[in-house]
Amino acid sequence: MATTLPILRLLKHKDRRLRAGHMWIFSNEVDNRNTPLTDYEPGEAVLIQDASGHNLGTGYVNPHALICARLVSRNPKYPLDKSLIVHRLNVALSLRSRLFEHPFYRLVYGDSDGLPGLVVDRFGDVLVAQITTAGMERLKNEVVTALEKVIRPSAILLRNDTSSRELEGLDSYVETAMGEMPDQLDIIENDIRFTASASQGQKTGWFFDQRSNRASMQKYVKDMRVLDVFSYVGGWGIQAAKAGADSVTCVDSSALAIESVNVNAELNQVGDRVVAVKEEAFEALRQIRAEREKFDVVIIDPPAFIKRKKDVNEGLKAYHRLNRMAMQVLSKDGILISCSCSYHLQQDKLREIILGASRHIDRFAQIVEHGQQGPDHPVHPGIPETEYLKAFFTRVLPN
Ligand code: SAH
Repeated sequence: MATTLPILRLLKHKDRRLRAGHMWIFSNEVDNRNTPLTDYEPGEAVLIQDASGHNLGTGYVNPHALICARLVSRNPKYPLDKSLIVHRLNVALSLRSRLFEHPFYRLVYGDSDGLPGLVVDRFGDVLVAQITTAGMERLKNEVVTALEKVIRPSAILLRNDTSSRELEGLDSYVETAMGEMPDQLDIIENDIRFTASASQGQKTGWFFDQRSNRASMQKYVKDMRVLDVFSYVGGWGIQAAKAGADSVTCVDSSALAIESVNVNAELNQVGDRVVAVKEEAFEALRQIRAEREKFDVVIIDPPAFIKRKKDVNEGLKAYHRLNRMAMQVLSKDGILISCSCSYHLQQDKLREIILGASRHIDRFAQIVEHGQQGPDHPVHPGIPETEYLKAFFTRVLPN
């Protein structure tokens, strides 16, 4: 069947990266003489061709974005429509069903699940979705009906309030797309229960990407004093308490996050061992050091300090400072769990930062484990940007 999609043609040689595996097209790669970007509506579906007119696949366009088009299928017969979305949701679901006993996971992770511009997190029969491109926004109704068909959820919330939407010229809003959305999301992770605000929580409400790292953490915390900095609702801290930590201190600058840590502590009957402090992270670390208080395990899981390439210098400084300050409050034989979700901070660089911090305070460091995002955030091997999370577990000893 011949497709009737409008054609988007690339300049000579500008098909190479795509043929090698990447799925994104930048605006300077388009043959603007033959197929001017200005001719397309934001989000319009296209057939992408190389300079000689060979089909590369279907995709969608946004003339206003730096990433001006995304490849959706290498089969030119399949444009992104409801039936392709249903198919890809089923493929995504079959992986998660194999991985997890309980239906709490990232169901769709954008490009890595063949659905660029869409993230869906599943909380039992409630779904929280996030659309980040004009191409996906145009298909919002199809996305919602496809999710209804494949998952049969009781409610779908669109958390379309992420700042990256600005890059695509999209507005910011939160909307219940179907059903009745509960105020609170229930979560089960590593067999531990949590609750978080659906409409006001960070991102989609929960960070499923740290699941396996939080599981790895549990073996280091029994009878230990644990500090969880940038705790959000206590994803790490509460799991540490459940795993037998003697005491847990969670620090976050958000009042709502701190309130939720307390609720989650009660929910898990560890309220007597968990303290939640509303404080700026660097200030909290400074105070802890000034008071000469020590912790056996310190977790630092900050928001991305490097969101864009231009933030690299400032961001690196912040990671250096944070890792130094976290090590300074570790006991004699302590474990630092240092995370970064900044794509622009490569794994080697974070290892260097950890080494630098240990040299700064003249301690002996052993990296005992390192982790990454869980398998419900699969990496697309042709799109390095899909691999972003790092977690180093470092034992810090006297020299
Ligand atoms: N560790 C969390 C996720 C962290 S998200 C988890 O496992 O779920 C980042 C958190 O850092 C948010 O809750 C935000 O409120 C908090 N935050 C951001 N900047 C901060 C700062 N300067 N000091 C303290 N907390 C901060």
